[in-house]
Amino acid sequence: MKKRIIITLYIMLAAMLMMACGSSKQADTNNNGSDKNDISQVENKKPEQEKIEPKYKVVIDAGHGGEDGGSSGASGSLEKDFTLSLSQKVEQLLDQDPEIQVFMTRENDVFLSAEEKIRPQFANDLGADIFVSIHGNTFTDPSVSGTESFYYYDEDKPLADAIHKYLAPATGFNDRGVKYNSLFVLRDTTMPATLLEIGYLTNPEDEQKMLTDEFQQTVAESIVKGIKEYLEVNLSKDE
Ligand SMILES: [Zn+2]
Repeated sequence: MKKRIIITLYIMLAAMLMMACGSSKQADTNNNGSDKNDISQVENKKPEQEKIEPKYKVVIDAGHGGEDGGSSGASGSLEKDFTLSLSQKVEQLLDQDPEIQVFMTRENDVFLSAEEKIRPQFANDLGADIFVSIHGNTFTDPSVSGTESFYYYDEDKPLADAIHKYLAPATGFNDRGVKYNSLFVLRDTTMPATLLEIGYLTNPEDEQKMLTDEFQQTVAESIVKGIKEYLEVNLSKDE
């Protein structure tokens, strides 16, 4: 009796295996079929994707803030106020582009600890695509004038170059070029990053220009131009 049961079980098992093989082959052909469907769906979906979906996360970092005033301008203006005002203009312009999601390290006069690396950490946690830090320069000699942009890693340089190309002519100050500098916001960010020294607040003439809405708007537009050009370069690399 036991043998018969065992044999019957074997036969049932074998039958089940054959059915399983058959159905898995069927499943394979179904998969092939649906792969083709997937491809055609992707092709059909492309125009839809171009509609809105933000593609890039951009972090704008207004230098200094709170107890850290940054440099003091010739007339006593503070760098932290200049950087915030300009950064907000950049933010407004970037906000108009549906492909770009803009994030600010600070929206008001708050202190962000450099020791705790809050600025780079903010961008790293977001998985930002680029990081742009905005500053005003200082020097003991008030006649010193100019615009310079900094990079740290090799992969930062194309971003610094792209922005500086528009920024330097927009300020109208001396073009001091794109330079290497070991700055913590550049060192500790994991995405391409640049730090822009727009101009010398310690130069009385330059400071007066830098504090006007008109100058800041022109400069903000130039920064946005550079950012967009850089991101489009990346886009064509992907495709
Ligand atoms: Zn600064």
